[in-house]
Amino acid sequence: MRLPLFVSVAVLLSGCAGQIDDSPELIVGESLAPAHASGRGGGTALTVAGDIRPDAVGIGYGGGPVMLGMPDVYYIWYGNWSGNSATTILPDFMSNLGGSPYFNINSTYYDSQGRHVTGQAHYAGSTTDNYSQGVAITDAGVEAIVSRALSSGALPKNTNAVYFVLTSSDVTLSGFCGGYCGWHTNGNVLGLDIKYSFVGNAATQCPRSCAPYSPSPNGNQGADGMASVLAHELEESITDPDLNAWEDSAGENADKCAWKFGTTYTTASGASANMRLGSHDYLIQENLDASDGKCELALPGTPPPPPPGGMKVTVTNPANGSIIHAGGALDFVAAVTDSVTVSSATVNWVAPTGTTTFTMAKNSAGSWELATTLSTTARAGTRSFTVTAKDASGNTATSSKVTLTVQ
Ligand SMILES: [Zn+2]
Repeated sequence: MRLPLFVSVAVLLSGCAGQIDDSPELIVGESLAPAHASGRGGGTALTVAGDIRPDAVGIGYGGGPVMLGMPDVYYIWYGNWSGNSATTILPDFMSNLGGSPYFNINSTYYDSQGRHVTGQAHYAGSTTDNYSQGVAITDAGVEAIVSRALSSGALPKNTNAVYFVLTSSDVTLSGFCGGYCGWHTNGNVLGLDIKYSFVGNAATQCPRSCAPYSPSPNGNQGADGMASVLAHELEESITDPDLNAWEDSAGENADKCAWKFGTTYTTASGASANMRLGSHDYLIQENLDASDGKCELALPGTPPPPPPGGMKVTVTNPANGSIIHAGGALDFVAAVTDSVTVSSATVNWVAPTGTTTFTMAKNSAGSWELATTLSTTARAGTRSFTVTAKDASGNTATSSKVTLTVQ
């Protein structure tokens, strides 16, 4: 189904019945689905509640096929992507998405014979298209772009694949930025049942609606927004490739979790993220676990990979508000959460004479501590300090400020 725009929780819960332009002003209540009466992913309910299988929760099943095994993913870079880091960010993202704890949520879906989706996906390559359908494209034009890539041999013909048409920021499509951020469907292309999807770069047309990340984890707001839309459309394509499988009146699996991000952490660059795939952080929407009906970032019991930016530093000694006698000894101890490999930690001591940084070492208890105790000067007054920890990737986390009184 079409991924609606990011507007607000209240509107998102109403599914695809919200509309926004890129101004702060909301336009709510206009139904979006009828605008695309082609039936191609327009959100028509194909099932009723009674179709929900006994061991599935929170979503209906229409009996149609799912994509089994290792589905392939192809990109078609449409328009002008010259010099855009999306061309490295998004292949890297897709290369690491399949098999991740997040994507494994799809393994809770199955077909009429009880065969389960694997949770795998394989990024199989890309091609480019230099505006063969112009700058203002249509839904039919998206299929024409896919057909052209297949008939020319630029990409292989593959019915167990999803072809993503990724449009550059100047390309417009009716409904994109006005009602949705992306969609998927299937079509008869060259006599084959080809699954394809549209995902546009919203960087200039509607960043607040389709890429509401600032700063964004990979420093490319359009691409970071597209990563979440790609995840959304791929998991829908795999569990509802022909729009007759896992879908009910409230939408497909990803629709039920649109714009829900779960637990986030802050990256070294200050961006909000919720998962690390390969060597990059992303903020990706949750997906519906069909075994418990919940939106999740990973199946219960399989937490997402440790977020490097998720370090938490807690000072255990001295406590905030402590009174220290002038000239007295100080031993700084800080606990750094162990979900990541912390490679160093420092005390940043702020005194009336200036700020000094002291290196800490991991002690036998697993906390970080100064190798030697320090003494305050005889000067009474207020001091403060923080502890900053750094991991092997250079991500840092800093404790809250501890203030001491020297008297
Ligand atoms: Zn959708």
